[in-house]
Amino acid sequence: MASAPKKRIAIFGSTGSIGTQALDVVRTQMDMFEIEILTAQTNYELLLKQALEFNPNAVVIGDETKFLKLKEALASTNVKVFAGEAALEEVADFDSYDIMLAAIVGFAGLKPTLKAVAKGKVIALANKETLVVAGDIVMQMAVENRSPIIPVDSEHSAIFQCLVGEARNPIEKIILTASGGPFLGKKPNFLVNVKRDHALQHPNWSMGAKISIDSATLMNKGLEMIEARWLFNLKPDQIEVLVHPQSIIHSMVQFEDGSVKAQMGLPDMKLPIQYALGFPGRIKNEFPRMNFKKYSSLSFEEPDYKTFRNLGLAIEAMKKGGNMPCILNAANEIAVWAFLKNRIGFLDMTAVVEKTMEKINFIETPTLEEYFDSDGEARNFAASMMKF
Ligand code: NAD
Ligand code: MG
Repeated sequence: MASAPKKRIAIFGSTGSIGTQALDVVRTQMDMFEIEILTAQTNYELLLKQALEFNPNAVVIGDETKFLKLKEALASTNVKVFAGEAALEEVADFDSYDIMLAAIVGFAGLKPTLKAVAKGKVIALANKETLVVAGDIVMQMAVENRSPIIPVDSEHSAIFQCLVGEARNPIEKIILTASGGPFLGKKPNFLVNVKRDHALQHPNWSMGAKISIDSATLMNKGLEMIEARWLFNLKPDQIEVLVHPQSIIHSMVQFEDGSVKAQMGLPDMKLPIQYALGFPGRIKNEFPRMNFKKYSSLSFEEPDYKTFRNLGLAIEAMKKGGNMPCILNAANEIAVWAFLKNRIGFLDMTAVVEKTMEKINFIETPTLEEYFDSDGEARNFAASMMKF
């Protein structure tokens, strides 16, 4: 029997937490996948190593000062080398790949992903900020160009998996589970003194710096509510958040008959990454299996909205709509960056986001250009508050 052609994968953000785990998946499934494009912002050494191992058609290094070094190091190969922000869009426009794994962190992931959507590519979406910023436009473009968006975020992958076979059945609500992060149960008098290294230590997942801080502040769950709204075409009041510290149930869907479906598994991002790359098939693997006897109790509790005010701000932005989630996201990116540089405290991040949301002009139905402008204005305002 002739085997199916290999799926050609473009990994945008290949040196990050999601990117490297995706390459771990691909490495074990070389009969199904081949790597077409790899991109990184600054880590030229790792990008080079990946290029030598996977022999892609093209690589992009965001930091243009690293271009010559990378080009020289790959001179004896056929790998095409590009550099700079515009090159990300240029390679996203290639015909020669099938699936984009959107694994760049933050707003920077939006433009290349839009290019891939316009080309009708399959998008395995890790970069939640793309939907937080411009979810209405991205989803509309995806419909128009028949570009399937398969979530990689574990909660959204869980919901997506629960919905397979349910196309005709309306969703009553979804329940997004949250681990609660490293500071579950803590109060503001504790959080005020928290430093970056402590905040970076997540109990269940090992992730990039930005999402680790977002998990500690619960902003991540707020961004995920907005992401879910667009992915699954929901109203804000159909999305509930439930703290589930064991991270075994990755999320749930409640249907109109009251039946609830949950997707479970060990907390390992390789599972949703592999599911998205393999969809609609499931791929046999040797990852560790879940042992229910080790988890004699799975617990659930209400999030502490009073302490973790970022979650409430994200809900407010989601309900307000327009460019408000874009403003929230931009201010948050600046605030997280400043916290990671030890320039502001843990609770100051919330203040920066809140003040920026108050300050920047609200636009009810922004164009793409207006989203870009709002992002820039919000960043400038947030940064000016911190006197950089
Ligand atoms: P990371 O910081 O580990 O990696 C980010 C990648 O993006 C790197 O390859 C980096 O080179 C590249 N990058 C950074 N800034 C860039 C820029 N300005 N332009 C172009 N490329 C740039 O991040 P991560 O934890 O892998 O997260 C990636 C995305 O996936 C985020 O949107 C995150 O929210 C989402 N996500 C991550 C996880 C996880 O477990 N890490 C889980 C769910 C969702
Ligand atoms: Mg998640």
